[in-house]
Amino acid sequence: MTSFAFLSDSGFLKAGPATDQPYAVAGIAWDGSTTNRPGARFGPRAIREASHMLCDATHPWFDVTPLGRVGDAGDLPLPNTSLAAMREALAPLADALVRRHHMVWLGGDHSITLPLLRAYWRWLGRPLAVVHFDAHCDTWVDHFGEPSGHGTWVYEAIQEGLVVRECFTQIGIRSAGERAAREYVRDQGGLIYTARDLRGLESPAQLAPVLDAIGARLAAHGQPPLYVSLDIDCLDPAFAPGTGTPEPGGLSTNQVLSLLEGLAAHHCVGMDCVEVAPPYDHAELTSYAAANFVWTYLCGQIAGRIAR
Ligand code: MN
Ligand code: MN
Repeated sequence: MTSFAFLSDSGFLKAGPATDQPYAVAGIAWDGSTTNRPGARFGPRAIREASHMLCDATHPWFDVTPLGRVGDAGDLPLPNTSLAAMREALAPLADALVRRHHMVWLGGDHSITLPLLRAYWRWLGRPLAVVHFDAHCDTWVDHFGEPSGHGTWVYEAIQEGLVVRECFTQIGIRSAGERAAREYVRDQGGLIYTARDLRGLESPAQLAPVLDAIGARLAAHGQPPLYVSLDIDCLDPAFAPGTGTPEPGGLSTNQVLSLLEGLAAHHCVGMDCVEVAPPYDHAELTSYAAANFVWTYLCGQIAGRIAR
């Protein structure tokens, strides 16, 4: 049994256990691949706790609530010292969950996304489009001498053919790194919006060109299933100090919300929210931001389904 066992009265939005609901969240409390400050293993419980402030969870823009439509599968029982063993144990659990629910995965560090993309590939049999919010490009070809970590998953996903290169979009990138890594996604045919590119652009109208470009890529490539991977360090540390590798000069909460609201126009297949590290958080700013992003994503998808 995991030491991070799920308590049924403390699920995301106080939802009950995942059974037959169309949507579900699951925690992946793994932080063995963090480069700098560990602690993201405590992310899922902090995001759940922050979500409890959302009361009836009726979204003020989408005017829907996930309650009654979402369950919480708890923190998955996974080993916590070997990346390979964690991914091996995660695979069958993820396979079952993606077939049963539209999932939101609560990390955990960003190394959890690669096995999740593999699970979607096994389920759907086709590569995904990805919108990737992050301060870091996560395209490094090795993780400090190891083959895989939380900064290699984009490179590995592209190399494995898990994603449509032209439909891979990065938003918020700004960390140090050599050009080959920083611009790898663009070199492969995808889109990159650095944090600098987006300075001063915050409203839905100002960010519409970003969403239009993503939509045009999806339309041009046969509407591949869309996955959202949100590393909370895309936010400026002023908005999200509780993370392992904070990078000043990042996105605002409003920028990310404008983009997440716009993505509701698309039918997505899943989302993860990773790298929330509560030991470095202040006033729970980071876990509140993460809970709000997950809630906004869920409500956007539910509202989109109703509208469609
Ligand atoms: Mn990342
Ligand atoms: Mn990052």
